[in-house]
Amino acid sequence: MDEFQLIDRFFKPLSRPADASVRLGIGDDGAVLVPPSGCDLVMATDTVLSGVHFPTDCSPRAIGHRALAVNLSDLAAMAADPLWYTLALSLPSASARWLRGFTQGLSTLSAEAGIALVGGDTVRGPLAVTVTVVGCVPRGQAVTRTGGRPGDWVCVTGALGRAAAGLAAWRRGQRRGATLVPFLYPHPALEWIPLLRDFAHSAIDISDGLIQDLGHLLENRPLGAEIRLDRLGCDPEDLEGLERALWGGDDYVLCFTVGSRQWPALQRRIRSRNLECRAIGRIVPGPGIRCQGVMARRIHPIRMQGYDHFRNKVPRARHVRPSPR
Ligand SMILES: [Mg+2]
Repeated sequence: MDEFQLIDRFFKPLSRPADASVRLGIGDDGAVLVPPSGCDLVMATDTVLSGVHFPTDCSPRAIGHRALAVNLSDLAAMAADPLWYTLALSLPSASARWLRGFTQGLSTLSAEAGIALVGGDTVRGPLAVTVTVVGCVPRGQAVTRTGGRPGDWVCVTGALGRAAAGLAAWRRGQRRGATLVPFLYPHPALEWIPLLRDFAHSAIDISDGLIQDLGHLLENRPLGAEIRLDRLGCDPEDLEGLERALWGGDDYVLCFTVGSRQWPALQRRIRSRNLECRAIGRIVPGPGIRCQGVMARRIHPIRMQGYDHFRNKVPRARHVRPSPR
């Protein structure tokens, strides 16, 4: 199978042939796209690497899902509706079986998100997947990291630490079961896009752990946060679970801030849409993240940090068995 057969067989079906916003899709030097009128475009890109972002013996379906999910999560955090994506794939060999699984992972999620593949590149090399997504928001309504104000509630859109628990199970050798799902198939919080647009002062998706990503909402501003540990939804006796909720990466839950006056109206919308949301603390004047609650004294102060690709020498999937090759 040469590169062009591979594109025709596996990647062209991921484009949406009847999509009027795609004047020219896969197959030319570039895509020609029609942005919706009155909108700002939001663009994000993320690379997922074998042995760093997913275990080397991970299924191709989970890899395809993850590569798109982490990018959709960035669009959700900006309150942008997904439009198009491109895919740059570095692959050790053109295995039809692998590509079938990989594109299944992509197509299931892309259909759910209503996003179309419009181009990309495939090369032979170590397994790495880069997806670039483009989304849109009504002009001026993108939600950014910098709008939080003192007194805002800090909210998260789901349970924290479940992906880290899945990774821990994987490292123990578990290869089946519901515990692995949040780690292998992270769910981008697309259902939150309209609510963020209407209510959030600032937002970020939690890819590197609550403490680190919440830190980005406070960066370069004279702001801090107080986090109520009893509101994280963890078993109060389970220190490991609490630490995963604070520092575990890969949850792709959104963390956003909302003014206390808008909070009741937001709660009504949350209830009417049957969404999950926890108000876990407040934005306060003055720097630093402080944890409150009976467990606060048991948390290691030096660990008030999350994952950083350049600071942390050992990648997340470090205990994962290498694939037999
Ligand atoms: Mg992000």
